[in-house]
Amino acid sequence: MTHEHARAAILSVGDEIVLGQSLNTNSRWLSDRLVRAGVSVRAHTTVPDDLQLQAEALRSLALEHDLVVCTGGLGPTADDLTRGALARAMDDELVEDTIALAQVQTMLEARGRALTPHHRAQAMRPARAHTIPNLLGTAPGLWGTLHVRSTAGERVCDVACLPGPPREMMTMFESHVLARLRPPSGRTVRTRVLHTFGLAESDVAIRLGELMERKSSLLVGTTASGGVVSVRLRYEGPEPPAAADVQLDELERRVREGVGEYLFGRESQTLEECVLALLRARRESVGCVESCTGGALCEVLTRVPGSSASVLGALVTYSNELKNKLAGVDASLLVENGPGAVSAECASAMALGGLEGLGVAHCLAITGIAGPDGARPGKPVGTVFIARASRGATPPDVEVRRFQFTAEREHVRDWSCRSALAMLWQHLSGLPPMKLLREQP
Ligand code: ATP
Ligand code: MG
Repeated sequence: MTHEHARAAILSVGDEIVLGQSLNTNSRWLSDRLVRAGVSVRAHTTVPDDLQLQAEALRSLALEHDLVVCTGGLGPTADDLTRGALARAMDDELVEDTIALAQVQTMLEARGRALTPHHRAQAMRPARAHTIPNLLGTAPGLWGTLHVRSTAGERVCDVACLPGPPREMMTMFESHVLARLRPPSGRTVRTRVLHTFGLAESDVAIRLGELMERKSSLLVGTTASGGVVSVRLRYEGPEPPAAADVQLDELERRVREGVGEYLFGRESQTLEECVLALLRARRESVGCVESCTGGALCEVLTRVPGSSASVLGALVTYSNELKNKLAGVDASLLVENGPGAVSAECASAMALGGLEGLGVAHCLAITGIAGPDGARPGKPVGTVFIARASRGATPPDVEVRRFQFTAEREHVRDWSCRSALAMLWQHLSGLPPMKLLREQP
C-alpha cells in the first residue's frame, strides 16, 4: 500500500536533548531536506530514552502525519530503545535480520572488533519492518509502517528510524531515505535564500514591505544570525517546478530591489566566502592586524577552503608594545594623553602598518574594548574601531569606522570580525560606504 507523504513529523530521541545537554541539529537538517524534497514538515517532537514514551509518540504522530522520521536510539547500549519502541508501536515481534547481522559483522571486522550480544541486538527489527544499511556505522536504520485508527478511520504512516550521530544520519537519509519519499503529486516546493549584512531584521522587513505578507503561494521570511539577515523565499503550490521558478525569479527581483546594496550572497554562501571570492577574482591579497579579536578574523577567513590564495596572514597585536613594534603604530598615539589604543587614529595606523609589514593589497585592523573591563570615559565596553587600508593610491586609501556593540565579550569579538569583512566586501564590490548596523556616526 502506498500513500503520499503530505505531512511529515520529526521525532528526536535522547535524554541528552530533553535535558539540554546537546543541541538537536538533526531536526533542523532533516526539516530542510524534507521541505526541499517537497515533503511538508508539520511538527518536531522530542522524547527521552524511554521505550513507552517513544512508542506513544510514534502512535500519536501517526494520527496526524504520513511520515515520521525518527533519529537516535539505534545503538548497542541499554538506553538505545528505538527498535523496541517501533515494534511496540507496530504491535510486532522483534526478529533477527540476517542481512543486517552480516552488515554489522562486516562493519565490526573492518574495525578489528568482535561481535558482542549488544551488537547483535542491533540486527533486530520488527517482523514487518525493513532494515536500512548504515554506510558509516554499525547500527542499521529501520523502515516500517504504522496502522492507526483515528476518528477519520484507519490511517497509515511510514516511519524511518535513523541513527543519532549526525554524519551517519545524513548519509543514511541521502543514500536510502530520499528515494523512498513520496512528496504529494501536483505540489511543488522551491526555496531560495539571499543573505544581507548591515541592516537590522526590522529594517529588512520594512524594505520588503508587502512582500512579507503571507497570503499567496509565494512566501518571504527573514532570519537573523550574527548580523547576517537572510531573506528566505519559498514557493509552495500547484505549479510545475519551471513555472514556480519563474515566479521566484520575479520575487527575487523585487527582494533585490528592496535590499539590493546590502545583499552579499545566496544559499550556503558566507560573508567570508564572498569576500574571498571577490579577492580571488581580482588576484588581490588580504591581511589582518588584530587587537581585541585576538586573531579571530584571520581564523574566520582561513576556515574557508582555498583561502591561502588570498589570505597572507595576520599580526595579533594585543599589547600596546606590539602595536608599536609589529604594526609600527607611532608610540605618541599610545601614550597616556594621546588618542590611545582604542581610537580611529590607532586603527588606521594598524591597518597602514599591516599593509606595509604584511605586504598585502588590503589590510583590516580591529581595536576595541571587548570587556568586561577596560571601559574609558566616552568609550564604553563594546566600543570598536575598524580600519580598512587598500593599496592603489598614494597615500593608500584608508577608511575607519567606529562601532558600538552590545557589551558582551563574545558578541563584540564576533560582530567585529563580521563588520570588518563587510567593510572590505563593500569596498571590493565598488559600493559607496554604507552605514553598517551598530556603526556610530
Ligand atoms: P550510537 O550507535 O552512537 O549509540 P544512536 O542511534 O543510538 O547511535 P544516540 O545514542 O541516541 O544514537 O545518540 C548518539 C549521539 O548522536 C549523541 O550522543 C549525540 O552526540 C548525537 N545525536 C543524537 N541525536 C541527535 C540530534 N537530534 N541532533 C544532533 N546530534 C544528535
Ligand atoms: Mg546510542
